[in-house]
Amino acid sequence: MSQQRTSSPVLLGIPTVRHERDLATDLPAATRGLPDRFGRGATDLRVSLTDRCNLRCTYCMPAEGLNWLPTQAVLTDEEVVRLVTIGVRDLGVRTVRFTGGEPLLRKGLEHIVAGTAALTTWDGERPDIALTTNGLGLDHRIDGLVAAGLGRLNVSLDSIDPARFAASTRRDRLPDVLTSLRAVDRAGIGPVKINAVPQPATYRQDAPELLRFSLERGYQLRFIEFMPIGPPETWNRAEVITAQDLRVALTDAGFTLTPRHGPRGSAPAKVEDVSHPDLPSGTVGLIGSVSEPFCDTCTRTRLTADGAIRSCLFSTTETSLRDAMRTGADDETLRRIWQGAMWAKPKAHGFTTDDSFATPSRTMSAIGG
Ligand code: SAM
Ligand code: SF4
Repeated sequence: MSQQRTSSPVLLGIPTVRHERDLATDLPAATRGLPDRFGRGATDLRVSLTDRCNLRCTYCMPAEGLNWLPTQAVLTDEEVVRLVTIGVRDLGVRTVRFTGGEPLLRKGLEHIVAGTAALTTWDGERPDIALTTNGLGLDHRIDGLVAAGLGRLNVSLDSIDPARFAASTRRDRLPDVLTSLRAVDRAGIGPVKINAVPQPATYRQDAPELLRFSLERGYQLRFIEFMPIGPPETWNRAEVITAQDLRVALTDAGFTLTPRHGPRGSAPAKVEDVSHPDLPSGTVGLIGSVSEPFCDTCTRTRLTADGAIRSCLFSTTETSLRDAMRTGADDETLRRIWQGAMWAKPKAHGFTTDDSFATPSRTMSAIGG
């Protein structure tokens, strides 16, 4: 029997577990991989390695008052590798992205990456291994991570102005991020993606500056619309800076954006070619989770730091693999529980059209972005 659970209010810490209907009962017996009832299949695993962070981005975490998961609730390195192995070997996962919270706070990250790199996908390849990080301390870790098998990197950076960076993250750490980016350049992993969440008061300055910075250094900048998954009461639909707002701001700043035609597949970003008379040409990605949602083509499955499967970032329920694993479940049982959770994936997240949408009770930092 799998355990589906509802999350407690964000600030109260670990979700309470309650036993509910076994989600796997609707699942066809011979199911392969991680399909859902709407014809999608998940091949892209996001693993949150910790709910903790050394920044406090305004759109992600409250300034204070967030209870951390107790250490014993968090998966050990071996438990993470075991579940990633089941995902890749038994369920068709091809891409594994480590995130958090801040995944660099996890001492065993290199070990976990190496364990993932030793796996073989159903296509006979090494999994595509990616990391999403705020970059603090990455200068000391990047060589070890690349040696362990890390293939791709996203670094979050909302502003290259020190004061605006500090306002966005509530920490004065821009120089440390820039030091890390220089180390990443030397390590030769790339192209690096830069993730930015645009803010109403500053995006007309930050967006062109970030794009200039990225084009000069060969980074791929992606703007992510502010989603209702940060601290409660911080999100207001009317204040979301949309992909279209960014197109206008960048055009006003002298950039020419040309949308790429053809299917974007399951990638969340709409990629546009960018040119500017004074800069190398490149691209910008616009992730319109709010204004241009992409639920129809979603291929994601998420594992939280405390071992729960979330079929959607905005799910209000989760299915614990950790509890089954710690009470002796074998790999076949864990595979079946994971499949049941994904089979129950909702059709869409709902906040684009539904004003009664309920914000998930964990913040992005606790789910894994
Ligand atoms: N700490 C790492 C980092 O910042 O890259 C990894 C975790 S963070 C939750 C992953 C991504 O989620 C970051 O790029 C961050 O900007 C984004 N994010 C966090 N809260 C968000 C929100 N409410 N709406 C949109 N994106 C958000
Ligand atoms: Fe930390 Fe990343 Fe959330 Fe910022 S977005 S508070 S860096 S987890």
